[in-house]
Amino acid sequence: MKNRSLNSLGEYFFNFEKMAYLKTPKPEGCIICLISEKSDKVHDLTVWENENFIAMVNLYPYNPGHLLIAPKRHIIDIRALNPSEEPQLHALQRRFLTILDRIYTPSAYNIGFNMGLPAGASIEHLHLHIIPRYPRETGIADLIAGTRVLVESPIETMNRIKELLHRNPFHL
Ligand SMILES: [Zn+2]
Repeated sequence: MKNRSLNSLGEYFFNFEKMAYLKTPKPEGCIICLISEKSDKVHDLTVWENENFIAMVNLYPYNPGHLLIAPKRHIIDIRALNPSEEPQLHALQRRFLTILDRIYTPSAYNIGFNMGLPAGASIEHLHLHIIPRYPRETGIADLIAGTRVLVESPIETMNRIKELLHRNPFHL
């Protein structure tokens, strides 16, 4: 019975060849700073940036469309955002929620910060998670006990968002 379920959902299964980059060693230093500096030591999944902020697809997405929005300055505490950065972060959150609505029409979102490594952050550099949630995701994940199953690679996600932003650019 389990096999039949797996076969019927075969099209949803993730193409692991596209995740080959995950096997490359983690670089020294802060990954968000390296991405902001356009280092060739990291995979660049940036979809938008200006002088102060960068928005990127999470290299280890929880779900398709999982985005990270970060100040380019290496800060750890949300209270270190200055008064001109706070409204920009809020505006970016609004923009990217609308973009994700248009591309993925998720049924819900998890939005928030893990501030500090003990809170679950894997990167110390402050970043806002926007995680779309889908009604059937639990059922699919349950098929493989304890393993997350993705239906889209982070590179595909990046390309879809960049394509939409190319047609509808915005500046802050
Ligand atoms: Zn950093």
